[in-house]
Amino acid sequence: MFELLKTDFQTKARLGKLTTAHGVVETPVYMPVGTQASVKALDPRELLEMGTQIILGNTYHLNLRPGLDIIRVANGLHKFMNWEKPILTDSGGFQVFSLAKIRKIKPHGVEFRSHLDGSLLFLGPKEAMDIQRVLGSDIAMVFDECPPHDAPAREQRLAVERTIRWARECREQPRADGQKVFGIVQGGSNAALREECAKAIVPMEFDGYAIGGVSVGEPEPEMLKAIEFTVPHLPAHKARYAMGLGTPAQMIELIARGVDMFDCVLPTRVARNGTAFTRRGAFGIKGGAYKADFRPIEDNCDCFACKNFTRAYLRHLLNANEILGLRMVSVHNSHLFLKIMAEVRAAIAAGTFAEFYREFITNYTPSQKILAQRRRETER
Ligand SMILES: [Zn+2]
Repeated sequence: MFELLKTDFQTKARLGKLTTAHGVVETPVYMPVGTQASVKALDPRELLEMGTQIILGNTYHLNLRPGLDIIRVANGLHKFMNWEKPILTDSGGFQVFSLAKIRKIKPHGVEFRSHLDGSLLFLGPKEAMDIQRVLGSDIAMVFDECPPHDAPAREQRLAVERTIRWARECREQPRADGQKVFGIVQGGSNAALREECAKAIVPMEFDGYAIGGVSVGEPEPEMLKAIEFTVPHLPAHKARYAMGLGTPAQMIELIARGVDMFDCVLPTRVARNGTAFTRRGAFGIKGGAYKADFRPIEDNCDCFACKNFTRAYLRHLLNANEILGLRMVSVHNSHLFLKIMAEVRAAIAAGTFAEFYREFITNYTPSQKILAQRRRETER
């Protein structure tokens, strides 16, 4: 399924090709997130125009609403949402542990109450794979337990044990035609647990491997450690996916550490409060400083928003709560994430990724929150 085309000679960056039932995906890849069968504020035509290769769908949310009966009659998620390219579906493990209420963890899954209407439901490895089979995703994820980053050591260990057992159960379930399945490595920022989990999951021979338990509120230095503790235990000939990450600079850092796939809600989520990403960092376009700023969001950006609208106009739309404002910032942000990945692939192919990496990180100013986390780490 995954072909490793090249490994950078100075960093651990990799160039690869994932072949799925709905087409080929070039890696490293950023996957826009369509939690509820829609990448928020963007339509499929826009996604294709900006170079989207694969999107995410979500087992937990789609199972609750519209429900599998509807998806089944629609002939799967691709047809339902009119997206012809590959789809990866999250197993719902993360949402059950973060969104659902009053739950009981049982040997074969989790009993929980829906965050929508409080109805009592059960999701485990068998159910998660059944749902993903009906959704018909190209890549399904195993059902795992994702504890909070500050969970006590005992809880982290139990989560790893369940994740391993559930991965084995997922492995045995029937799949949709051509559907691939990725295993997930948990273990927080504990090196021994990460290694133990990887060593149990990798022999199960999944089609690719994800690093879970990151982007769960941990400071950036801890996230990087979790990735560094896991990657060496993953096989070179399978795709590696860091779940729920990250900012442009974080994706570049992780690519340099050997990660191939990313998904992140940031481009569309922050767009809704008027935050635009650029190659130099993010900024809030609603600020007074942009009132009469007639430049595009980012100079030399060839996205639809930058080619057609000014900061002053977009600021006005956002402050007046006009839908076009948040749509256009979503277009720019998503386009930027995808464009950076295309540049990364070209740089790895040309043997210039190390320079690209250094230059990108030097020019990029992270958020105040991330800078504070880094300061705390160096003070320790
Ligand atoms: Zn733009």
